[in-house]
Amino acid sequence: MSEAHNPTAGEDRTINILQLYPREMNIYGDWGNVLVLKQRLKWHGYTANVLEYNVGDDFPADVDLLVGGGGQDSGQVVIQDDLQAIAPTLRAMAEDDLPMLAICGLYQLFGNFFKTHTGTVIPGIGLLDLETHGGTERLIGNVLSVSEEFGEIHGYENHSGQTFLGSGVRPLAEVRKGEGNNSKDNWEGARYRNVVASYLHGSLLPKNPAIADFLLQQAVIRKFGSFEPRPSSAKDLAELAKLSELARQHASQRPR
Ligand code: GLN
Repeated sequence: MSEAHNPTAGEDRTINILQLYPREMNIYGDWGNVLVLKQRLKWHGYTANVLEYNVGDDFPADVDLLVGGGGQDSGQVVIQDDLQAIAPTLRAMAEDDLPMLAICGLYQLFGNFFKTHTGTVIPGIGLLDLETHGGTERLIGNVLSVSEEFGEIHGYENHSGQTFLGSGVRPLAEVRKGEGNNSKDNWEGARYRNVVASYLHGSLLPKNPAIADFLLQQAVIRKFGSFEPRPSSAKDLAELAKLSELARQHASQRPR
């Protein structure tokens, strides 16, 4: 078939995904979030261009979706100055409804501050209205939480920081098993505009495709005006449904 018969030939359907600080902030399988976004974009007929931003890099001009993972307190110290330098850009992107996923360590630093259990204050970027206080107890294990927006959310937590939400954000989900943001209230994660923040690793998106599809759809709509899935094949779609359902079933048996 010649190109003249294909009205969409040459159409740009590329979404630029930026992963923040993958060297320091990328633990407990968080890299899987980027892989899921890339694969699901492909299944929906779009292309993902994955970019990485590390300390000292030039911040890329063209970003459609931003992903940040977890890291140890020591990793958070390494990135803190650089993160402050790009903070105005990140805040402007969030206000402009760019979809973002922030997990654990970067979730904490997207807030107002993280005060470690030794009293060191790592400033946050104030993109999310929340604060985190380091404790002596680690909150570890598989979590089941429930959200009106995304249904049941499954994942794995491992943190000593305890996060408390301010009035400028809403919780992502209510915890049914596990701890979530802290050991006092029952909230897990935070939601603001198109930002999804969560303590859950494992990684989060393979088991929670509704969140992945929310993020990628917002990215596509923001860039192209509408989301028009063009699945690569029925076989791929069936595979998509089967794999994510298996991951969810497996994860649902883990929290005790
Ligand atoms: N260092 C932080 C804490 O323990 C974040 C840990 C993580 O990202 N898993 O609270």
